[in-house]
Amino acid sequence: METVSTDVVIVGAGGAGLRAAIALAETAPTLRIALISKVYPMRSHTCAAEGGAAGVIKPDDSFDFHFHDTVGGGDWLSDQDCVEYFIHEAPKELLQLEHWGCPWNREADGSVAVRPFGGMKKQRTWFAADKSGFHILHTLFQTSLQFPSITRFDEYFGLDLLMHDGRCRGITAMEMRSGELRQFHAKAVIIAGGGAGRMFPFSTNGAIKTGDGIAMAYRAGAPLKDMEFVQYHPTGLPNTGSLLTEACRGEGGILTNKHGRRYLQDYGMGPETPVGKPQLKTMELGPRDRLSQAYWHELQKGNTVSTQWGECVLLDMRHLGAKKIRERLPLVHELAESYLGVDIIKDPVPIRPVVHYMMGGISTNTAAATPLPGLFAAGECACVSLNGANRLGSNSLVELLVFGRRAALSAIDYLQTVPALDASSLNAAADTTRQRIEALYNRNDGVESMSGLRREMMDTMEKNVGIYRNEAGLQEGVNKIHELRARYTRVKLTDRSRVFNTDLFQILELGSMLDCAEAVTVGALARRESRGAHQRLDYVDRDDTNFLRHTMVHRQGADLPRVDYLDVVITRSPPGVRDYSGDHK
Ligand SMILES: Cc1cc2nc3c(=O)[nH]c(=O)nc-3n(C[C@H](O)[C@H](O)[C@H](O)COP(=O)(O)OP(=O)(O)OC[C@H]3O[C@@H](n4cnc5c(N)ncnc54)[C@H](O)[C@@H]3O)c2cc1C
Repeated sequence: METVSTDVVIVGAGGAGLRAAIALAETAPTLRIALISKVYPMRSHTCAAEGGAAGVIKPDDSFDFHFHDTVGGGDWLSDQDCVEYFIHEAPKELLQLEHWGCPWNREADGSVAVRPFGGMKKQRTWFAADKSGFHILHTLFQTSLQFPSITRFDEYFGLDLLMHDGRCRGITAMEMRSGELRQFHAKAVIIAGGGAGRMFPFSTNGAIKTGDGIAMAYRAGAPLKDMEFVQYHPTGLPNTGSLLTEACRGEGGILTNKHGRRYLQDYGMGPETPVGKPQLKTMELGPRDRLSQAYWHELQKGNTVSTQWGECVLLDMRHLGAKKIRERLPLVHELAESYLGVDIIKDPVPIRPVVHYMMGGISTNTAAATPLPGLFAAGECACVSLNGANRLGSNSLVELLVFGRRAALSAIDYLQTVPALDASSLNAAADTTRQRIEALYNRNDGVESMSGLRREMMDTMEKNVGIYRNEAGLQEGVNKIHELRARYTRVKLTDRSRVFNTDLFQILELGSMLDCAEAVTVGALARRESRGAHQRLDYVDRDDTNFLRHTMVHRQGADLPRVDYLDVVITRSPPGVRDYSGDHK
């Protein structure tokens, strides 16, 4: 197996991976950086982000407001020292992007424009029309090109971390176009592999979001934190799951049921405000968990609209007018037209909640370090404990920047302390990957089909770990995922060729998703309370006495994982009531 020697490996070239690469190259120009991605960087999911990125910039806003919105939005499961660091770094990062060329929308006076976003009580979401992620990723990508110390390995599929004496010393990966394996030897690894929403059948996530980075760390012994918190976004297209950004509501769109009622007023989201007037009360700008849960209740009450794509509610933007829609929401206009044949200028568009984001991930501290020396993680694959039990829209894109950079700085500090290593001592670890792949190619008793197992996994996740959960359903979910993991050891590789073998990649991705699904189901069963995105019909209240703590799931090979807990860091905001009935300016 060919060896690539480098100083730092980054797995993932989305927002978090590119930001980390730039920070490494700028701060320590002599370091060799290997940037590995299973797709061309601009195809990373960050590119699909629409609505925008949050950072305090306007005079009527303050760090205190951003702090309290984030902590309350996360139902007090966020680590408050982490939130503190984040809110102060956020505007610096967004201005840095501006200097690198990101075309933020402007106010008439030329200053940066912001829009309202769910759960944010002040306007602080910077945006570039409804293509913010595209512009952010483009800016990062083109900036990264100026650093010769960054070597890109596009279309390389990262497989296993190389561990030695308890330290992470590199990774194995497959060059996808040839099927050849490589071992990357490094002093530190930063995982920026993105989320795992694809373990659910109905998701806004790109097909590549299969949690490979999360699973890689989990298999190597890193704990996964708060995995049971899976975010449903309230407004997805009912047939494809494509996202209609929260900016639809930020710009003034309203949600109605089959009686034409703005039903959110019945769920503690404030009194109705006149349509077309500035949003004075929270209503449609409540947080995502609350809005998705309100949909579920409307469904139980029979208040949803039956459409050819199933039960829905309606997102009405007609009153915004053609000019504003074309200027501020051009992608939304196009998506609704292309996929449903609905012109949002003339008609309301049917929508329903859709799996969108993982609050949980590889456990890191505020310095983006995992408990495994030499292993760092940032972006959606990590749980730095910024988002707690429910992420606020537009905090994630900034999280990539703030903690991508932070992971790089932490890795640079760590490099000073790493002992030298004879390269041959990693060969045995790398050979484990080779054996795993060859076993798939050589197996003649494979009986399980990849797509069959994947379907069963997705159905289980939707049925048992959806918006509302209960003990019996979760226990069934844990058992089923455990069974699927066992059956996965007999999965059949149908295509035995070596060149760009998509059958093989999908099998590997399924393995990653099953690992993630295990942590989600086990964590959700153990958490007997309702908090943020984790809502249980049998434990309807938040239980701060027993569960104001992070779930930590530790892999135990083929057995069920071990669960323990970590205290939440509370600095200045004791747990309180989440109130979304007040003013929203
Ligand atoms: C449709 C949509 C709209 C969104 N809108 C917003 C928004 O407006 N505001 C906001 O704040 N957030 C938004 N989000 C959330 C946010 O965009 C994501 O959380 C964020 O972009 C994730 O970035 P990342 O860098 O962690 O991962 P990604 O951008 O997903 O990148 C992951 C990288 O890892 C690589 N990778 C994965 N597995 C492997 C492997 N095995 N080997 C090698 N490489 C691998 C991939 O190739 C890719 O380069 C949105 C999300 C979606 C899905």
